[in-house]
Amino acid sequence: MYEMRAGPAGTGISWHVKAKDAATALCGQPLHDAAPAVDPDEHCGLCMASFERAMRDHTARPDHGP
Ligand SMILES: [Zn+2]
Repeated sequence: MYEMRAGPAGTGISWHVKAKDAATALCGQPLHDAAPAVDPDEHCGLCMASFERAMRDHTARPDHGP
């Protein structure tokens, strides 16, 4: 299970993706309980890439291969 969490990214904030019970985002960014006061406009590229890879791995079944 994954969830979106707003958190620091560089000089601003972005939406990160983290596993439900993880303390850090997929990109390694520590996420604290206190969410930023405003919603970020951007998504963390590293998190999105990791998330897409995880989804692909999750749906890839040996018996469904090309
Ligand atoms: Zn991230």
